[in-house]
Amino acid sequence: MEHEKSRLLFEEALKVIPGGVNSPVRAFKAVGGDPVFIERGEGAYLVDADGNRYLDCIGSWGPLLLGHAHPRIVSKISAQLGRGTTFGAPTKLEVRLAQAICEAVPSIEKVRLVSSGTEATMSAIRAARGFTGRDKIVKFEGNYHGHADFLLAKAGSGIATLGLPECAGVPVAYTADTITLPFNDVDSLETLFGTIGTEIACVILEPVVGNMGCVPPSDGYLQKLRVITSKYGAVLIFDEVMTGFRLSYGGAQERYGITPDMTTLGKIVGGGLPLGAYGGRAEIMDKVAPVGPVYQAGTLSGNPVAVTAGLEMLSLLREGKEVIYARLEQIGERAADSMRALAANAGIPVTVNQVGSMITVFFTQKTVVKDFDQAKRSDTVRFGAWFREMLEHGIYWPPSQFESAFLSYAMSDSDIDHLEKVAEAAFLAVA
Ligand SMILES: *Cc1c(COP(=O)(O)O)cnc(C)c1O
Repeated sequence: MEHEKSRLLFEEALKVIPGGVNSPVRAFKAVGGDPVFIERGEGAYLVDADGNRYLDCIGSWGPLLLGHAHPRIVSKISAQLGRGTTFGAPTKLEVRLAQAICEAVPSIEKVRLVSSGTEATMSAIRAARGFTGRDKIVKFEGNYHGHADFLLAKAGSGIATLGLPECAGVPVAYTADTITLPFNDVDSLETLFGTIGTEIACVILEPVVGNMGCVPPSDGYLQKLRVITSKYGAVLIFDEVMTGFRLSYGGAQERYGITPDMTTLGKIVGGGLPLGAYGGRAEIMDKVAPVGPVYQAGTLSGNPVAVTAGLEMLSLLREGKEVIYARLEQIGERAADSMRALAANAGIPVTVNQVGSMITVFFTQKTVVKDFDQAKRSDTVRFGAWFREMLEHGIYWPPSQFESAFLSYAMSDSDIDHLEKVAEAAFLAVA
């Protein structure tokens, strides 16, 4: 593959943008090689500046469950553009999107729209603290909830990818009330709540973690969290920015049958434009201004363009629900089974974690990866070599061992054949 145009663009980018990218994982630092610059997306494919085509296994890191430039979403956005892009005043569209969200995720009685997942989680936590009158929050190692100061302790995603122990620029005092526990560990949870349970405002987690690679909850873990938070009056926040509308129309909470107090959404809910949301029980959400004393605001929050994209995305998913989610399960399982078989065939030890259309191939001797410590033992050098083989042969897999791949409904059976063929050769190449 020719990458000359991408290379030249990267050179220019490095001069005016830190690391040449607007979000760290895009720089390929953890896998080696230079990033490719994307010119356009077509359904399940990306096309780069040199005209190379890639099967897109990240879908912009989650939002593009239906692939790039879905004609119905594009046409709705185009129609809205002519009517104005932002008003700073309420619109009917926002009401419709809020209704669609509350209907899809019944634990959300009231919802506030914001512009990113980061805003959603930091605002949800502020509301939980305002509601409980408590300061301490609990999060889990390897979970990522956006880049707010107090959430960057032992975080997944880019922090894990770059191997940063902590984030510079975050005063120690800002994370003083953030307690971090290992994921999937009931004992540490019980011990903590047994000692300071009544001081804890909320527990926030990714119900299926995507940001240390895909790591599902162990049997009974989410139930345990529900019981213990209720017992101590702490708010349980499911960060479904990644899993919302992906693991089922009602998110991970529908899939696992757990009702959290609050939920954060992003990615898919914006239909490919910047939009996030946080919501939950009405009595908590009514603490938010202008009803209550918890301030939160945004100039472009609920802007009609992003809201239109989100509304059309949700309409498409609601209409196609049965077919779409069954198909995503099927290709997810097929891809995971093939990855296991192909790696074994090449003599490479891997553990493949998969839930629906989320999938991670951990290059590890460990047969189970259920927390951040285990994920971190993966052979990231071999993963990087495998990633580069995949890219060079037309598969855009996440450029990090600690990020989930996202399959999309736009992928055909022959696209999955193509994925398997390339993965087979890539495993053999790094054996
Ligand atoms: C992506 C992500 C976020 C942050 O969303 P941004 O839109 O990138 O700010 C928060 N939580 C989870 C679980 C995510 O996957």
